[in-house]
Amino acid sequence: MLEELYQEIILDHYKRPRNFRIIELPSASAEGFNPLCGDEVTVYINLKEGLLEDLSFQGQGCALSKASASLMTLRLKNKTLCEAKADIDRICTLLTQEEEPDASSLESFGDLGALAGIRKFPARIKCATLPWHALKQALDAIHME
Ligand code: ZN
Repeated sequence: MLEELYQEIILDHYKRPRNFRIIELPSASAEGFNPLCGDEVTVYINLKEGLLEDLSFQGQGCALSKASASLMTLRLKNKTLCEAKADIDRICTLLTQEEEPDASSLESFGDLGALAGIRKFPARIKCATLPWHALKQALDAIHME
């Protein structure tokens, strides 16, 4: 049941990606490329009073990379830089740690838990982490200013 639900979430975000647009004059942007699959993503963020007032993405890639980016923009909107960085770490840990996440910790991720299904397919993990790594680059660029 849960797996079916997670499949639906991925497909929904692939077919109708949220915040799939360019932000003109963003506070920062960063590109990511996953040569294993050919996924390309550019992440844009707009910072206002310490919050991620807007974030969006553009690019092309597989269902997983697109769904991951779409879910990410929803998850991090209106979060602080610190909160966003903590979430990036949590998601990347979820996707790459050896330990199998239990159901309750998966639930704490909400819709993002859908990404955890690719843990069974190690070759695809970079598809899901790609937009998160790009976002981290964009956030780091802001931090340096
Ligand atoms: Zn991919």
